[in-house]
Amino acid sequence: MVKAKGVGAMNNTISLIIDDPMPHHHFYYLQYPDRVTAKGEPIVPAVPHAFLEAFCECIERYDIRGKFSVVPCPKGLGSVADSIDGVEPAVLAQWLNTVKTRVAPRFSLCPEMLTHAGAMELTTGVMTDENEAVWSNRQDRTALTPYIAKALALLREAGLFPTGVTSPWNFGEQVEDEYTVAIAEALATVCGRRDGWYFCRYFSHEPNVQPWVALDENGRRLVSIPGTVEDYFWQTILSGECSEAYVADLADHFITADGTAGDILEAVRQGTMPVLLTHWQALFSNGTWAGLRVLEEVARRVRKHTALHWRSFDEIMQRVLTNREFYDKVITN
Ligand SMILES: [Zn+2]
Repeated sequence: MVKAKGVGAMNNTISLIIDDPMPHHHFYYLQYPDRVTAKGEPIVPAVPHAFLEAFCECIERYDIRGKFSVVPCPKGLGSVADSIDGVEPAVLAQWLNTVKTRVAPRFSLCPEMLTHAGAMELTTGVMTDENEAVWSNRQDRTALTPYIAKALALLREAGLFPTGVTSPWNFGEQVEDEYTVAIAEALATVCGRRDGWYFCRYFSHEPNVQPWVALDENGRRLVSIPGTVEDYFWQTILSGECSEAYVADLADHFITADGTAGDILEAVRQGTMPVLLTHWQALFSNGTWAGLRVLEEVARRVRKHTALHWRSFDEIMQRVLTNREFYDKVITN
């Protein structure tokens, strides 16, 4: 647990974590094809391109910023750099182009390791039965570095410019000292970057949680940016609800309509940077788009009632690195 003392230079920052985006495939369906919503509807297998475009309109309208994952090899079905089973080449190209031209200006891009499923054998490209997060937690830098480098390289080959990485599940968390060295090495080798960021930790309802410099050695620096506001969007996947009242009620968890309460404001009052955590499937809401409407309402209320400023993970990283006198006060316990 890492905490920073007092309020600092970043206390008007808000950011948004989006985990699990992938072209065309609906990740929730890949994981749970047999589930049904509370209204008995089946899980839909694909996320139409129109949803990504609607997301872009929302972030452009409110200047929402944060980080956006791209799973390079969704469930081992292929790769964004080449082809993915079940995804038309034109659909893949269109998705990547929209991410590059409309998402990347506001959201720092990253791989969410390789498959977000089984660990991949790098020599053969074959996905094993063991979850890559489980695999990762008994590795050291010698195995983690090429694994992370592969994930970064696939995004680069797909025309994207990753500046950090996201940990699927608890990838690397139990070997974090080795993990951070491996991330820094992979970012330097594949992307030519001396500075980077990663998302691995999550603390909700905790006071004084700020990003911190997790690694600073050999001219390489890595900033850990934790999530701090829980994913209330998630329940839209299976609820089947999408009424105005439902959307407004869910937005209240983040910030109420009168701008007096909610977890975003609670975080700010406690000296914590509000970093909202959500998932692509939680905004898609099995096709109702209710989660995206909640995000839009939250952003509208944040703009109306607060002085908070959305920042990308690159922007947060830069601010942490240029305000070391504040962030070096972090206490690790
Ligand atoms: Zn994930």
